[in-house]
Amino acid sequence: MKDFKAEKPTWCPGCGDFGVLNAMQRAAVSLGLEPENVAVISGIGCSGKMSQHFGGYGLHSLHGRSLPTAQAVKLANKNLTVMAAGGDGDGFGIGMGHFIHAMRRNVDITYIVMDNHIYGLTTGQASPTSDIGSTTKTSPHGTVEKPIEPLQLALSERCGFIAQGFSGDTKHLATLIEKAIRHRGFSFVNVFSPCVTFNKVNTYEFYKTGLVNLDEDEGYNNADRFEAMRRVSEANNLVVGVVYEDPAQTAYEDTVYGYPSESLVSMERGLKQEEYDRILAAFH
Ligand code: SF4
Repeated sequence: MKDFKAEKPTWCPGCGDFGVLNAMQRAAVSLGLEPENVAVISGIGCSGKMSQHFGGYGLHSLHGRSLPTAQAVKLANKNLTVMAAGGDGDGFGIGMGHFIHAMRRNVDITYIVMDNHIYGLTTGQASPTSDIGSTTKTSPHGTVEKPIEPLQLALSERCGFIAQGFSGDTKHLATLIEKAIRHRGFSFVNVFSPCVTFNKVNTYEFYKTGLVNLDEDEGYNNADRFEAMRRVSEANNLVVGVVYEDPAQTAYEDTVYGYPSESLVSMERGLKQEEYDRILAAFH
């Protein structure tokens, strides 16, 4: 087993993204993945550095565009384990359309969002998940817009695997990422990942005392989507664990007619003529 080691991270000391990186690497090691078989595709933001730091293949894409890029990588080489990584501004702001359609499409990738409720790289503006009343550079009198609720959004879109973790508990987070990678189809892991420099409200202390761990609740049924919506709502989104899983959903690659059984990158000259003919014939 080779190590997942790349260049030294440049995040602020104490940034939650260190915990996410650690958990992603732990999950990969636990699954027996080799660096050359894993690709991490990131967007723009402090979290965007994940593709450089992870230690496998990495591609630092455009703002909000990690998901279309990651889906393309997976569809071109289905032998790779593909993770997309980004922040709440990147994924739930400019990238929101891609998030919703990636859940619909259900390509077999894992999407990890480092949700710190603020734009960190651009030095502290309100983000799509900032709570009402948050004072930031762009909301000096408090945010008035309602925050996006990522778990409820994913539940309403019937995403096949939904989990939430905390970067202050990397051991638990690693188990969530491992389960997300194992899930066949699109999987979503939202992570409370404190920005220690610009968000003085959603801190490690804030999360350490306020999270409900659904994985420790023996009575919780994570196959019941409406129960998941109710529990997430009751806890005001402050839950961790596997929120919902529907293993019966079929991944895009297993559903679309004519998708080749062989990876595109391993074909000598792309699709053979008879493959083109077969796919085109399906549209007539
Ligand atoms: Fe992390 Fe915030 Fe520093 Fe960015 S600005 S590296 S999110 S602590």
